[in-house]
Amino acid sequence: MAVKMVEAPEGIEGQGFFATSFEKVVGLARANSLWPLPFATSCCGIEFMATMASHYDLARFGSERPSFSPRQADMLMVMGTIAKKMAPILKQTYEQMAEPRWVIAVGACASSGGIFDTYSVLQGIDRVIPVDVYVPGCPPRPEQILEGVMQIQELAKNESLRYRNSEAYAAKLARYNIETEGKLLYSL
Ligand code: SF4
Repeated sequence: MAVKMVEAPEGIEGQGFFATSFEKVVGLARANSLWPLPFATSCCGIEFMATMASHYDLARFGSERPSFSPRQADMLMVMGTIAKKMAPILKQTYEQMAEPRWVIAVGACASSGGIFDTYSVLQGIDRVIPVDVYVPGCPPRPEQILEGVMQIQELAKNESLRYRNSEAYAAKLARYNIETEGKLLYSL
């Protein structure tokens, strides 16, 4: 079977050498080694299991290692209905993740509460944590979940190394009452 290598970043190539920027190399490494934290509460979680299994094989993207410790995960995948009682737990999980971290809301429930427009269900996880990619569907097919992961890969590949320590990022987290002030978020 032919092995498809990831594309090299932009750079200058000659006989026996390839030069590019450090930022692009780090982006390439991050994008192809995203460790998911599956926060699965209901039916959408089953679609994630299919996404991990041999037919769709999330491992092709370097994400074969689900992390059930937030401290060793890069990509929080929230799949399923999130009750309001669970919102603080979800937020705590996000806060425990190391930088840089990304979030996918998988399916209608995680994105907007889905069909559960009721007093007990959180109407979208972006009420408590920032979301990078939304995957529509009830449930989304594994192909859609893979597309969501690929979108995160694009974000990771193109992110500036300074972004996580920037004021813009601190302001984004502040909107969710997540503090960054006085804390070095990320350094190489
Ligand atoms: S979006 Fe649909 S399939 Fe996914 S958890 Fe909600 S009800 Fe289940």
